[in-house]
Amino acid sequence: MNLEITMALAGNPNAGKTTLFNAITGSRQHVGNYPGVTVEKKEGYYELQGSKLKIVDLPGTYSLTAYSVEEEVARDFLVKEKPQVVINIVDASNLERNLYLTSQFFEMDLPMVIALNMVDVAKDRGIAIDEVRLSTLLGVPVVPIVARTGAGVDTLMQVALERAMSGQVRSMAAISYGEDIDAALLKMEERIAVGRFMTDTYLARWLSIKLLEGDQQIIDQGRIESPQRASELLEMVHNVSVHLQKTLETVPEAIIADHRYGFIKSIILQGVVTYKFDENRLYTSDKIDKVVTHRFFGPLIMVGVLMGLYHFTFTYSELPIAWVGKLFDLLAGVADQLLADGPLKSLVVSGIIHGVGGVLGFVPLIIFMFFGLAFLEDSGYLARVAFMLDRVFRVFGLHGNSVMAYIVSGGIAGGCAVPGVMATRTLRSHRERMATLLTAPFMNCGAKLPVLAMLIGTFFAKYQAQFMLFTTILAWVVALLVAKFLRLTILKGESTPFVMELPPYRFPTFKGLLIHTWEKTWRYIRKAGTVILGVSILLWVMMTYPGLPESRTGEFERERQLIMASALPEIVQAVVTQGESQSEAPLSVEAEELKARLDSVTRQEAELALEYSVAGRIGKGLEAVSWLPGFDWRTNIALIGGFAAKEVIVSTMATAYSLGAIEAESSGSLSRTLAVDPHWTPLLSLGLIVFIMFYSPCMVTLSCIIKEAGSWRWGVFSVLFNTGFAFILATLVYRVGSLMM
Ligand code: GDP
Ligand code: MG
Repeated sequence: MNLEITMALAGNPNAGKTTLFNAITGSRQHVGNYPGVTVEKKEGYYELQGSKLKIVDLPGTYSLTAYSVEEEVARDFLVKEKPQVVINIVDASNLERNLYLTSQFFEMDLPMVIALNMVDVAKDRGIAIDEVRLSTLLGVPVVPIVARTGAGVDTLMQVALERAMSGQVRSMAAISYGEDIDAALLKMEERIAVGRFMTDTYLARWLSIKLLEGDQQIIDQGRIESPQRASELLEMVHNVSVHLQKTLETVPEAIIADHRYGFIKSIILQGVVTYKFDENRLYTSDKIDKVVTHRFFGPLIMVGVLMGLYHFTFTYSELPIAWVGKLFDLLAGVADQLLADGPLKSLVVSGIIHGVGGVLGFVPLIIFMFFGLAFLEDSGYLARVAFMLDRVFRVFGLHGNSVMAYIVSGGIAGGCAVPGVMATRTLRSHRERMATLLTAPFMNCGAKLPVLAMLIGTFFAKYQAQFMLFTTILAWVVALLVAKFLRLTILKGESTPFVMELPPYRFPTFKGLLIHTWEKTWRYIRKAGTVILGVSILLWVMMTYPGLPESRTGEFERERQLIMASALPEIVQAVVTQGESQSEAPLSVEAEELKARLDSVTRQEAELALEYSVAGRIGKGLEAVSWLPGFDWRTNIALIGGFAAKEVIVSTMATAYSLGAIEAESSGSLSRTLAVDPHWTPLLSLGLIVFIMFYSPCMVTLSCIIKEAGSWRWGVFSVLFNTGFAFILATLVYRVGSLMM
């Protein structure tokens, strides 16, 4: 047989779905989006006994109401695509909570297998689960597995295939929801069956339950299908509701949920779960949480953890950054030797090697930051941070889910606003979502890190970690204040309730950390090889052309000739020889002096040429406003480049400052150049840091904002609002700061 069989993988978030999916499909996967919505759709294949199995990884959900896009996608897939079997992955260490979703799958009457995952974790906690008994009570096969190691996965697939072939559904009576609801359900089912109301897609019983739960999506669909039948059914719902209100002072939705929980409780209590320890004993996770999410100690620990992370990053990345810098200097040196003077050499050395090298030079920093971040994420600590900040976010009209979007965007320095903006999909309220996605780009993403690190390293070298923490806090404060401002003005509206789930702490595996670190680092490197290479070349062209007119270059040449003519021939000879052989041999005092005079002329020429170029003219033109925060025209050029991709700010500044110098210089020496330049003060750099943190999102983020917000107007808003805001802030820092000094 060569039938294609579809299997859906479904379960709570954090139950191990992705781990199992990867274990089953290996590298044979396809990632896209569900039609019409932007929720990730992962598909992979597995072959077993001549059957080709298509595995679909559904979004993780706790429930199957239509409260979130994920829930809607998951249940739409199940009811409409009708997979031959559902593999319901259940976290054995959290059995009771996970079975809530299982009970909802039962209502759909699909063939199902339960993958009882994380039995290793359960065992460690002294929880023993009798899977045979569980299987008997639930009426579906239960296969214990450890997704992380792959144990039991083969058996699981075997059992799942058998179920899919036989099409056998749960061998049990449906869950009872109590006398009143059960009676109403029967009547409604009958009415639905008689009128064949939406029966092409939905099971009569499931449909009735959804109507009783007041599911808006189903009600709307029903009204379209047949307004008359829909109102008949809703009339029945209304009657039970009134009755329940009178007798129990509650609504059908609550009763249905209560009975699902009751069903689970009864199963758990029938000897399925035994605890080796006292049941009231706190798990290690809960014990840690008592301290880590404590009202006073929690935030203190959080600040401590961040300081530790930044300290770790800056301390350990210093040396490798210097090595990579040397490597690119070496490369530039080689190119300098091999290529003849001219535009090609300038393009390769100043445009490509320094442009891309300036970005790649920060890879060590990125690696250390990402590694630390992966540790916090994999261990479960990041969820605690979100949990603690949820309380604060309420005040600013945001949502617990906004915390994650901020963190993904670089809330702990080193994320990216693109996935951050996409992470706002989990927000139900449009206004909360907009407020979040418009402010998420304020976070310190990985691309801003190099320029922040460079400026902090140059002007605040003694306090790098502290300063990094300061910029992090500043980013959050500004983002929250702007969010509040938006929620009070153009995005006014109610806030929606939120329950935060805290996954248990897990000690991250070294392999897992390396994979996560590498995935993020690779994205950064790949960007350097594509977008940033393109931007660097474009910027080089803009900074090189048009060249100075002949008349001007001739003047400089004549000046050099004059200087040489005034010196002794053997001294001129010594300078020329050294220049040609590129040797480091010491020159006599007179020769050094001559060389310095010649270099000074050449530097003036290069500087004039840069000013004369397209970029130079734009940069100069912008000085009409940029004098307010004190930015010179070279900085302006870099900031324009940063609009395309923030990574290129450092390399563009390096090029802008090095084109005016004799030898091409690496970003490491940009720091030295700035340190000795009298125009550059710590205050100016502080203003620039603030500007870079808050000005327009980069182009990629912008296109993402437009897509997610559904209108280019929000893109325009982001550019104008953020840049204007950053400009005012930077000006205030510089001007008010100058007054105080
Ligand atoms: P998803 O949210 O359902 O996709 O869950 P993931 O697959 O991302 O897993 C969540 C976490 O649980 C990850 O850190 C996994 O490494 C870990 N995990 C998954 N399966 C197991 C398991 O069987 N045993 C243990 N100890 N950890 C697991
Ligand atoms: Mg997952």
